Amino acid sequence: MAFIIDGKKIAAEIKDELKQKVTKLTEDGVAITLAVIQVGNDPASSVYVGNKKKACEYVGINSLSYELAESTTQEELLSLVEALNADAKINGILVQLPLPSQIDEDLVIKTISPTKDVDGFHPQSVGALSIGQKGFISCTPGGVIQLLKRSGIPMEGKECVIIGRSNIVGKPMALLMLRENATVTVCHSRTKNLMEVAKRADILIVAIGKPLFVTKDFVKEGAVVIDVGIHRDAENKLCGDVDYQDVLEHVSAITPVPGGVGPMTIAMLMNNCVEAVTKSK
Ligand code: NAD
Repeated sequence: MAFIIDGKKIAAEIKDELKQKVTKLTEDGVAITLAVIQVGNDPASSVYVGNKKKACEYVGINSLSYELAESTTQEELLSLVEALNADAKINGILVQLPLPSQIDEDLVIKTISPTKDVDGFHPQSVGALSIGQKGFISCTPGGVIQLLKRSGIPMEGKECVIIGRSNIVGKPMALLMLRENATVTVCHSRTKNLMEVAKRADILIVAIGKPLFVTKDFVKEGAVVIDVGIHRDAENKLCGDVDYQDVLEHVSAITPVPGGVGPMTIAMLMNNCVEAVTKSK
């Protein structure tokens, strides 16, 4: 029987631990404030932003909302980010992506001070991760590491195959698994013999963005499967990049969708906000 990795439970544990830390910080007179910027009113972004604000409230982090019009210019957004960088009361800055087409996302990310880059997307944060220095770790891959650690799944010396090489999931995921001493292979859209390569994995991490793509033909008997994908199926139900029912009997452990990786992203964002005041970056 496969072990179902309960991301909801682990995320709740992390938030409770953080809540305790924040209570102590508050007693010591230290407040944490996250600035959340949303440009336009894309419904999915509004849901994500709302969930982030709710988590802040639960943990005891102040959140300041900046809801900007869809027509906001790049200059207007950059000057807001610069003002928040200069404001000592702000500890973290989050710009909800995607941004409207008139705004250069990379430039916005680069403008956020690396000391307030709680999403971990700034080139300095990514560079620090790649050479093993201190810095913010992007939330989704950071959450996967916590899921594995807190489920007692060893990573050291294991064959880890990651499908997907995006800047926000696949690449930082590979760097984090290396840091955990796994032997890491990164697959992408040009990988040849994907099924055979995926089958080498003791730990298979899938972040490909294609619903139900990974079937049992990609999975070695007894592997651990982590599904980062989130989609709505034909019946409007959430599903992942992995065909969960198809692989279930082949795996030793698996994350469900929903309730696997998803809840961890926000928990790790909260973790980064706390680290913004407790660790020097
Ligand atoms: P992306 O589209 O930026 O990257 C997908 C990657 O998959 C690319 O590197 C591409 O090379 C690779 N790929 C595409 N088709 C392939 C194929 N046929 N064979 C092999 N590789 C292929 O996606 P992303 O931003 O990394 O997100 C991946 C998934 O994770 C999406 O479903 C997204 O919604 C989800 N996601 C979830 C969370 C969360 O909090 N749970 C966070 C971020 C992303």
